[in-house]
Amino acid sequence: MRDGGTGSAPDGVPAVTLPGVVDRHVHLGLVDRALLADGPVTEVHDLGWDPPEVAAWAADPPSGVRVRYAGPFHTAPGGYPTGRPWAPDAAVRHVATPREAAAAVADVVAAGGFAVKVALHAGMALLPDDVLRALVDGAHAGGLLVLVHAEGDGQAQRAIDAGADTLVHVPWTEALPDAVIARAAHMTWISTFAIHDGPGRPIGLERALDNARRFVAAGGRLVYGTDMGNGPTPVGVNEREIELLGRLLEGEALRRAVLGPPSAPALEAPLPLPETATDLITWLRASRRLPHSPK
Ligand SMILES: [Zn+2]
Repeated sequence: MRDGGTGSAPDGVPAVTLPGVVDRHVHLGLVDRALLADGPVTEVHDLGWDPPEVAAWAADPPSGVRVRYAGPFHTAPGGYPTGRPWAPDAAVRHVATPREAAAAVADVVAAGGFAVKVALHAGMALLPDDVLRALVDGAHAGGLLVLVHAEGDGQAQRAIDAGADTLVHVPWTEALPDAVIARAAHMTWISTFAIHDGPGRPIGLERALDNARRFVAAGGRLVYGTDMGNGPTPVGVNEREIELLGRLLEGEALRRAVLGPPSAPALEAPLPLPETATDLITWLRASRRLPHSPK
């Protein structure tokens, strides 16, 4: 924490205006999304759901919230998250061949998704390299990002080497070699640290923080995302996620990781510009939405 604390801001400190919070990893189908209305979170990215259902939520979102979505999980037949109780069948797209990969990507484009979500989860059926590559190449040809859930030995490296743009969780199941992290330095990694924070799983959190620290040092872009809906996550700002990001980032880097671009709906609070995670949490608690002109 910094000297002085934000609570003691002197009278007369001009209010600071900043863009709203962007949560780059949520599952709106698993939360009471109405709770997001007119809060500090002004944009969410849904990373796995039935495409028509999530498209309808994006068309009629909680007040003041922009919803972007990927659509379904792309996975091998029988691969993660097939059969998980939280995952409707329509949220999982099984892809067995490169030809099926091309068709699946076309369906994401048609459904209005911004990205192709791919699951590589060791211990269940895995996409082979040629199908993974077809998903990546097809997505990029169609102007879409490729966002990968990589879990278990070697899967983050497969995603990196296949040309994925984003890892939707900072890798937590293994310590990545520095050489692999160096090859990932052009990517975006979404934090989701707080989901590893429960009892019995601290090793996952420590691994994730260590991987992320080296990723940031290599020049990688680490951003805020909570996996909202995975367990008892808050519907709104996840302060624990910001605290954990604050172990790695501060100042402009922290603000850019958590908050949207300048075009995002604005928040205002009568406090100085937040520099640390503690500052930022205090600032967000004190913030109010400013009216904004429609896009
Ligand atoms: Zn998720």
